Amino acid sequence: MRSVSIFGATGSIGESTFDLIRRGGGAEVYRTVALTGGRNITRLAEMARELRAEIAVTAHEECMPALRDALQGSGVEVAAGAGAIADAADRPVDWTMSAIVGAAGLVPGLRALRHGGTLALANKESLVTAGPLLMQTAHDFGATILPVDSEHSAVFQALTGEDRSCVERVIITASGGPFRDWDAERMATATLAEAVAHPNWSMGQRISIDSASMFNKALELVETREFFGIDPEKIEVLVHPQSIVHALVGFCDGGIMAHLGPADMRHAIGFALHWPSRGPVPVERLDLARIANLSFQTPDEKRFPALRLAREVMEARGLSGAAFNAAKEIALDQFIAGRITFPQMAVLVEETLAQMARRNDLSRDAANLDDVLQADAAARRTATEIVGAW
Ligand code: NDP
Repeated sequence: MRSVSIFGATGSIGESTFDLIRRGGGAEVYRTVALTGGRNITRLAEMARELRAEIAVTAHEECMPALRDALQGSGVEVAAGAGAIADAADRPVDWTMSAIVGAAGLVPGLRALRHGGTLALANKESLVTAGPLLMQTAHDFGATILPVDSEHSAVFQALTGEDRSCVERVIITASGGPFRDWDAERMATATLAEAVAHPNWSMGQRISIDSASMFNKALELVETREFFGIDPEKIEVLVHPQSIVHALVGFCDGGIMAHLGPADMRHAIGFALHWPSRGPVPVERLDLARIANLSFQTPDEKRFPALRLAREVMEARGLSGAAFNAAKEIALDQFIAGRITFPQMAVLVEETLAQMARRNDLSRDAANLDDVLQADAAARRTATEIVGAW
């Protein structure tokens, strides 16, 4: 029986993973070891009961009594706190879904890699924060990382069986989000509700806002560099409003392999779940004649400065990725709390990186967890101080 754990089970990616596991036979076919969540205790307990998980863990200590009550008599162990989530990752499994949102996904992902097996990585923040450390850990422990981000799953699929030395360019696409056609003046007035309303994808609140600001695509640029080891100058972004083509890989003979699929994360999750085979996934089949038009345009880096910042981060390397992601998370918190405007998010991230670079806080390699966590904490402190002074 194949064993699985889902970190971030109650989120958008977690729910889609749960859906595929349930459709694939649930507890009759999969042995579920750990399910983790945050505040959605009711849902976490429902999932744990249905899949007969060994342990359910909430990230928040204060949610422990509710989780214990909800799982009374079920035989499912319960635990709480960030440490308990990391400990749950020490339980060996064949396949782990890493779908916690934010840098909080890094340590559980690293711990899961240490028992070999496959890590399906939706948590792009961990690759941006500590790409070299994550890839080295996978290598050292004989573990496999499979990308779950739709663009990276698409690149992975387009590269399968190909000669990587012949890759000339990798193009990841972006829908352009809800503000694709807004001018800068209008973007300055964007509300939280407008930023969350993604035109094509149904996702968690944080990644939806990151899509609107293109910070999501910025993280994905860095993710592409870290995961595939592609030189930054070979990685491009194209705005593709239909979200049908997820990525394209161009080769030295002029050919381009494109990956097409519906805007449904269950495709990429299902690919990672069935890999190295392909298995049935219940997503809508594309009707290309009905779709009729696929269009592409160059992104506007003036209105979406996150893309320029990502290029600077890829150039600087070291601990810049950790600082970039952490500053972005603070900027997002501040926007959600209504303390800064939509364009101020990028200003805050840029200013945080500039201050940290001036203090020479970013030059070390992202090869050591303590250094990475220190850079993450320093960036959060710096960004919070900058906002405090605004
Ligand atoms: P959601 O916000 O929907 O879910 C996040 C999950 O993490 C929930 O289970 C949440 O618990 C849990 N969580 C939140 N904070 C913490 C914390 N501090 N410690 C531990 N667990 C926590 O996010 P998504 O599913 O949208 O995204 C998950 C990851 O996948 C992100 O890294 C995102 O960038 C990536 N991704 C998402 C895509 C999508 O379509 N949604 C596409 C590609 C990548 P609870 O809800 O119970 O509080």
